[in-house]
Amino acid sequence: MQVYNTLGKTKEEFTPLTGREVGIYVCGPTVYDLSHLGHARTYIAFDMIVRYLRVRGYKVCYVVNITDIDDKIIARARELGEAPQALAKRFEAEFFTDMDTLGMLRADHYPKVSGHMPEIIKMAERLLEKGYAYRAGGDVYFSVDRAVGYGRLSGQSSEGMLTGARVDVNPAKRNNLDFALWKGAKEGEPAWESPWGPGRPGWHIECSAMGVKYLGEQFDIHGGALDLIFPHHENEIQQSEGATGKGPFVRYWLHTGFLLVKGEKMSKSLGNFITVKDVLRGHDPEALRLFFLSVHYRSPIDFDYQNLQSAEKNLERLYNALNFIDRIEKSTDEIKGIKDILELYKKKFYSSMDDDFNTSKALSHVYELTGEIFKIGPKAKADDLLSLREFLGEVGYIFGILQREPQVRGLEEALRALAISLGTALAAATDYRGAIEAVIAARETLRRGKEYAAADRIRQELMGMGVILEDFKDGPVWRLKRSARDASS
Ligand code: AMP
Ligand code: ZN
Repeated sequence: MQVYNTLGKTKEEFTPLTGREVGIYVCGPTVYDLSHLGHARTYIAFDMIVRYLRVRGYKVCYVVNITDIDDKIIARARELGEAPQALAKRFEAEFFTDMDTLGMLRADHYPKVSGHMPEIIKMAERLLEKGYAYRAGGDVYFSVDRAVGYGRLSGQSSEGMLTGARVDVNPAKRNNLDFALWKGAKEGEPAWESPWGPGRPGWHIECSAMGVKYLGEQFDIHGGALDLIFPHHENEIQQSEGATGKGPFVRYWLHTGFLLVKGEKMSKSLGNFITVKDVLRGHDPEALRLFFLSVHYRSPIDFDYQNLQSAEKNLERLYNALNFIDRIEKSTDEIKGIKDILELYKKKFYSSMDDDFNTSKALSHVYELTGEIFKIGPKAKADDLLSLREFLGEVGYIFGILQREPQVRGLEEALRALAISLGTALAAATDYRGAIEAVIAARETLRRGKEYAAADRIRQELMGMGVILEDFKDGPVWRLKRSARDASS
């Protein structure tokens, strides 16, 4: 298996540190607002990578941190007149709801900054003892002049880094590239006790301290989107290797490309973001996953609703293939050779996935195979059909799709009956999605009229049809129930 390593800027053979065990750390969200599609793009990519490694027989330990102490959280809390910790807790809960809705596997650990002060302080102390850091008043800075090979991940010179993103100019620093390990407390900000007086950690140190704690002083994979290469990941390398005296801190650095809107990065600060909740109001989470995974994880991807619709069509095509296989009666004039076709496509699929998780190419092979299924499926032997079903099951697991309960087939009929009982016209609904929206709109009318019992009955009825409906402050979000395997993972 080959993976593209940002460290060497080339594809390398993937060899974990210890046998079949893989430790993977992905920089998680700063919980001061709702997750947007940019976050979803990155986390869906790593979710696929974790799933694929597991299918490949690796025992994966997956860690995603939660940044619950940060300048942006403090600023937002001030704006809203809320305590920073309360705000962070609220958005952490929203993050988990969104990730669950997107069918993400839960990570093995979600460490939070607020729960790891002793580890963070200890690492800063070690860096001071070893001369990699210095104190300036109540602050502690990492000294880039003491660093070994600073810039090796981002491949930049000092001048390049100085003009790069997020470098604060501060008279207390010896070098403008130096970065804070600890920030002395400021009036009205949350603070923790430390050997340097009350304060809070700088941003980068949390990932070094928590990475080392959960995955060891050296581990296999570290990820995030491209914007984290510099300074965040560059600084993590320096802090971790400086403190532990061991290198490399991480063997493979994997970075996702940006989700763009009209060519620009989707971000909170540009105001061009669409939240996960917003998009899932009228679209299937599986279609969103397929939309992202149709493009290689390192390539940029432009979001627009038209492309999402074509992902919806492709998803339907895959479901149709599954349903088609399930309906094939055992053929009397079985033909041979289907096994060979399946083996061929399986090989192509896995070799694409082994090539730096090339989901885009792997999917094109799956689509070709489904074309074959429609042609020759009716003449397949029973055990070949079973193998086909199993393969599509594997594809579904790796991509986090095809997990809907099979009863969805009868969904439109059931919705129509429900709509009639509510006196709602489904004329405008062109498919089951539109029908669900129409029923939900009727339910919203009931809710506005405070007829909560009736509204709840509709929610129950939808649940019985395999449609899960959740009410959020800014409106309901629905999704189709997935199989037990996905729900329990
Ligand atoms: P944040 O909450 O901003 O710290 O971001 C959490 C994660 O999402 C980081 O790995 C970011 O690099 C990633 N991310 C943020 N915006 C985008 C985007 N537009 N496309 C892809 N990944 C993003
Ligand atoms: Zn991080």
